[in-house]
Amino acid sequence: MRKTFLRIAVVLCLTVFTMPAMAVALPKVAILATGGTIAGQAASGTQLTGYKAGVLTPEQLIAAVPALSEHAQISAEQVASISSNNMTTEIWLKMAKRINELLAGDIDGIVITHGTDTMEETAYFLNLVVKSDKPVVLVGAMRPASALSADGPLNLLQAVAVAGSPEAKGKGVLLILNGEINGARDVAKTSTTQVETFRSHDLGFLGYVVNYKPVFYRLPARKHTVETEFDISKLTTLPKVEIVYNYVDPSLDALNGIIAGKPAGIVSAGTGNGSLFDPFEMVLADAAKNGIAVIRSSRVGSAVVTDFPKYDDKNLLPGDNLSPQKARILLMLALTKTKDLREIARIFQTY
Ligand code: ASP
Repeated sequence: MRKTFLRIAVVLCLTVFTMPAMAVALPKVAILATGGTIAGQAASGTQLTGYKAGVLTPEQLIAAVPALSEHAQISAEQVASISSNNMTTEIWLKMAKRINELLAGDIDGIVITHGTDTMEETAYFLNLVVKSDKPVVLVGAMRPASALSADGPLNLLQAVAVAGSPEAKGKGVLLILNGEINGARDVAKTSTTQVETFRSHDLGFLGYVVNYKPVFYRLPARKHTVETEFDISKLTTLPKVEIVYNYVDPSLDALNGIIAGKPAGIVSAGTGNGSLFDPFEMVLADAAKNGIAVIRSSRVGSAVVTDFPKYDDKNLLPGDNLSPQKARILLMLALTKTKDLREIARIFQTY
């Protein structure tokens, strides 16, 4: 009698304790692979540079990290197989449309494996055009998959865990490497070769991945994802916007070449507080008069480019604290909506 009672008690306990575990399904995370060093292969484990990026398939990346299946139900697609210095706006549009499609369905989060060179640009573009508050996480690696102490597998595992976590919802597009969670708007690659390359300059990263859980300490203040006014669903190209770099005694060759290419906009990577070499100022003022939108950003990498009457009078608009490459992305998207300079200025204060 006593034995039967004990047996029933054991069965009951097992049922009660295993039921919740069985009932809670793992989140569905889709991996979109684009190439990069995380999928890179060198001739030997000791070769850390000069390898080929974007060699491994998403299936091979997943197979290298069996623990992924403890954190999510994974599906995977190859969007591109490139080193990210070859990223294009055409791939961006294709990727953004696919992400919006997946997130409108039953996928709980997205991980994009991506080269680190232009990861910050893809992250900011998606931050402005993804129409969902579900997590979207970019991840990469600084050492190829074949390297001793390759950083890709753990980065991928942490990215998948965060993309499947409810805590990462509504935080905008995130970029995770080295256990650090950066917001898309502020992050930049800062080191050519070191694993701690991603930094958010003055403003700091948003949080850590502690083992496999995101812990956030700050939130993005600028509008993103579901709060933006940009709609790429019907676009097949983006307006052409180029960047001109300022330095001591530049010739006008590069700037004139840019203008001859008839861009819709130009971003100046100015010196200091967005200052321009005087001959650049004259050419850019002329360009602005002819309907080219001009944004003054800075090559400095810290703080805000402010209003400045002598430039404002010529419609050379300040680019806030965005790096030149991020100001270009925002200007491209702004130009999909308007050519009105007051509106473009408002967009720069909003995102
Ligand atoms: N050149 C590589 C890329 O951006 C570098 C990396 O992934 O770390 O694809």
